[in-house]
Amino acid sequence: MHDAISSNPTLFFIVKVFVFIFGTFIGSFLNVCIFRIPYRKSVLYPGSRCFLCLSPIKWYHNLPVLGYLILGGKCHYCNQSFSARYAVIELIMGLISLSLFVRTPDFYSYLVLMYFMGAVVVLSFIDIDHWLLPDRITLPSVLLGVIFSVFVFVLPSGNYIDIKSSLAGAFIGFSVLFSLGFIATKIIGKEALGGGDIKFMAMIGAFLGWKAFIPVLLMAALQGAIFGIFQIIYSKFRKKRLTLNNNGIYSVFKDKSDMFTPTSHHIPFGPFLGLAAYQYIIWGNSLIHTIFGLHFL
Ligand SMILES: [Zn+2]
Repeated sequence: MHDAISSNPTLFFIVKVFVFIFGTFIGSFLNVCIFRIPYRKSVLYPGSRCFLCLSPIKWYHNLPVLGYLILGGKCHYCNQSFSARYAVIELIMGLISLSLFVRTPDFYSYLVLMYFMGAVVVLSFIDIDHWLLPDRITLPSVLLGVIFSVFVFVLPSGNYIDIKSSLAGAFIGFSVLFSLGFIATKIIGKEALGGGDIKFMAMIGAFLGWKAFIPVLLMAALQGAIFGIFQIIYSKFRKKRLTLNNNGIYSVFKDKSDMFTPTSHHIPFGPFLGLAAYQYIIWGNSLIHTIFGLHFL
């Protein structure tokens, strides 16, 4: 796809700027999804509003990243400060969009992977906030991954994802994690692997194919373990950890009954699965080959 565009450096630069800006707008929509989906609220209606005074946010205050800078991170009406995380997620999505556009060989593959990464970002942040990977996102996404694969898309590593690879990926992702979780639960006597993680892995398999299973799981476990070690060291210095869950913003309308209560050293696995999936999209097996010295298909 890029041959015609990339032969003209000026045009290619302009296109890349647009692709980045497009990503930040997607990120802005994902912020709404992250905030509302756990409460089963519509992501389309009503429009964005201040969560404290409920004033609708003007369109030019709602521009990705810029809106946050114009307002100085505060509500225009009631001065309530907004988390810088909104702007960070918009920036992340801009960078993801740019990296996918530059690395994928055709526009269809770019759009499919943009959908996938959008869902990954939403799931990761909902998992951080609520210890939850909603079925409303994972299950339809497994189905979408399989449907997209009917028309065959390509990962930057050169792996073609066709319907066989997608179905095998979803099946392996689900069944292996389900078995691992079942065995681990029997051994330690409490839930070892959340049901959400299992469905998330099925979704990753549906989009990235069965070959992604071992590399993604290894990279997620490695980075999760490194993070966990740092967190244990950090929490020794700081007795009470302040999380987004108990700073009062969400507690107003949160139903705590079905919430998983983490221990102090618990970390959600979803964000690490998402990070590993992105790394696999961009670098394929070269990363895991460098780190573990393993060679996969
Ligand atoms: Zn306000």
